[in-house]
Amino acid sequence: MERGGVAHNAYGRLRAADRGDRLLDMVFGTGAAGLNLIFDADDTLWESNIHFLEAEAAFIAMLERVGGCGRDAIRKTLRYHELKIIAEAGYGRVHYVTALHRVIPELAPAHYHKNLRGEVEQIGRRLLNRRCEVMPGVAETLEVLAKRHRLLLFTKGHPDEQLAKLEHSGLRRFFSRIGVPWEKNSLNYQLLLAQAELDPARTVMIGNSPRSDINPALEAGLYAVYIPYLHTWELEDAAIDHACGRVVTVTAFPHLSEVF
Ligand SMILES: [Mg+2]
Repeated sequence: MERGGVAHNAYGRLRAADRGDRLLDMVFGTGAAGLNLIFDADDTLWESNIHFLEAEAAFIAMLERVGGCGRDAIRKTLRYHELKIIAEAGYGRVHYVTALHRVIPELAPAHYHKNLRGEVEQIGRRLLNRRCEVMPGVAETLEVLAKRHRLLLFTKGHPDEQLAKLEHSGLRRFFSRIGVPWEKNSLNYQLLLAQAELDPARTVMIGNSPRSDINPALEAGLYAVYIPYLHTWELEDAAIDHACGRVVTVTAFPHLSEVF
């Protein structure tokens, strides 16, 4: 099989994937074992942001129906409350629903508020009950990688929500350590390195978010594998310093078993 490569790739990054294979071969040696592979969860192991996009679409349609403001204003107000509540209480689906509730009195005519609160409860229930589907090939790939490397999970979010998703996914058994920090910044990566006794020169962070998975991991001295995902939350996007020589891109999760 062609290394890293793949006839069908949704992102047109086959060349980057090929470069990535060679770089990691050079760093760790072909067939290296005993690395520490740290995985992001949302939109890396299982789908997540697409559920928020669905909730947002339903919420916007609801507010447009009662009139008073346009789609851009709704999005802008929602984003304001979303970020505010993240700063107050952290990430998570429960908090997102609270943000939806906070938008109503700002944008909807008062006589609609009671009914709209009921509709937001419904949107929230759908969001909270949505099962996060494991991405194609993830379980099979982790099975292979776990035989050769130490696997860790490092995901931000609401701890109860993330742990419940992990249990439902059936992937818990592959990870020797689970971390759910309030934010994935450089400091928290350094804390993880210290607490789990990881040598950064033998440790790779793998995920879909440049802002949370790639850049702070590079800053903490780790290597990183970026797996782009079509529906990544726009606030997780950021420029990646590819020139640093410690980050590679692969086009899909199953390619990891060829890289490592
Ligand atoms: Mg993610």
